[in-house]
Amino acid sequence: MKRKLLILGGGFAALQVAKRVSLALYDIAIVSPRDHFLFTPLLASSTVGTVELRSITEPLLGFRKDVRFVCAEATGIDPASKTVRIKPSHEAQESTLPYDTLVIAVGARIQTFGIPGADTIALPLKESVDARVIRGRIVEQIKKALLPSLTREERRTLLSFVVVGGGPTGIEFAGELSDLARREIRRVAPEISADISITVVEAGSEILSVFSQTLRRYAMRAFARQKITVRTASRVKEVREDAVVLSDGEVLPAGMTIWSAGIRPTNLAQSSSFSKDNRGRIVVNSYLQVSDHQDIFALGDCSFIPGKEYPTTAQVAQQQGKYLGKSLDVWAKGRTPKPFGYFHQGMLAYVGNNKGLADTPAGGLRGWMAWLMWRWVYLTKLVSLRNKVLVVFDWFKARLFGRDLSHF
Ligand SMILES: Cc1cc2nc3c(=O)[nH]c(=O)nc-3n(C[C@H](O)[C@H](O)[C@H](O)COP(=O)(O)OP(=O)(O)OC[C@H]3O[C@@H](n4cnc5c(N)ncnc54)[C@H](O)[C@@H]3O)c2cc1C
Repeated sequence: MKRKLLILGGGFAALQVAKRVSLALYDIAIVSPRDHFLFTPLLASSTVGTVELRSITEPLLGFRKDVRFVCAEATGIDPASKTVRIKPSHEAQESTLPYDTLVIAVGARIQTFGIPGADTIALPLKESVDARVIRGRIVEQIKKALLPSLTREERRTLLSFVVVGGGPTGIEFAGELSDLARREIRRVAPEISADISITVVEAGSEILSVFSQTLRRYAMRAFARQKITVRTASRVKEVREDAVVLSDGEVLPAGMTIWSAGIRPTNLAQSSSFSKDNRGRIVVNSYLQVSDHQDIFALGDCSFIPGKEYPTTAQVAQQQGKYLGKSLDVWAKGRTPKPFGYFHQGMLAYVGNNKGLADTPAGGLRGWMAWLMWRWVYLTKLVSLRNKVLVVFDWFKARLFGRDLSHF
């Protein structure tokens, strides 16, 4: 008899499990409120049209033959009855799903630290819908700024883009936005291009803290050349419709604020009865098993292995997913698999103007070569051939015809 395998989530970790686990041993269902997989490393590119959103998403429906997809949010787990409570996306009524083996891969959500306006006014950059909203808002700001009745001051405020968070996501977004400003906006609306400003606000003492110091310094120089302002050791106190207020009282004009300052657990992980670390992640052992529950596994951004401070990245989630996909088959045969081991392949980031950073175990690389490497690596990591073809096409399209500045 096949075991019922329920996978909560449709992201990097979940997809790898669902792809690898044996259909002869398990009856598999994926539960996710988002009906597609999202390739987040290229999400910043999609906010300005360097790539299209459809090129970096993959429908979960039918992604593997004989794997069921349930479009719903898991709202509670009851290990005693071996059921998961779900709220289907199109229904108000909750229902339950039984499992023999449960995989929790629900990722995380944006952290806003309760800062006024961070949830309601600033725009997060985490999901596909966020990228769509940001792209629309950038075009809106440009259209508003073109109104002849505006004063120079009003135009400058409208075109002040503040990015909160100097991690890879915030930095890549600033770089992509700078490309859009220097190429497309300068070409099609030269009268406003000088009024555009991009400011990155980072609470820590440096941006890109996960990269080596040489690469961090290079990123600062690359940003200075693109006239992107970086404010380190600056905490945001409040986000307003037209400004960002720092904790020292300084007010930065902001026509649009993008928030990418960390992550926190989802409601499901937070409300679960499992043991958690001080950041609210579910504690698992080196087989990714949840403490005291042999048939429940957690992986990716929502999990934590004591003594192993892995970064919350797609790289870790994917490796854990591949591992668990194989090891579930071993468990089903009554044997114990090898524990999970992480292999760090390096870190990559785009800093605008066709320049990148690559921090690899073999050493650091920066500039144009690192940008090519960034593109090549992410192209190979895209989950389907369809995505790969579409992304290459988008890159050529953006290079030949420029990025599209309409929104509907
Ligand atoms: C803009 C951006 C850029 C990034 N760039 C990089 C990069 O270049 N390299 C890198 O290594 N990492 C990058 N990351 C980090 C990377 O995306 C995450 O570490 C990775 O997605 C974690 O994978 P995961 O499977 O744990 O979660 P996710 O991929 O986030 O998937 C979580 C899934 O769970 C679903 N879900 C949520 N709640 C529930 C629920 N209650 N019930 C059921 N399903 C639920 C979600 O809809 C989603 O399908 C980036 C992240 C962002 C936001």
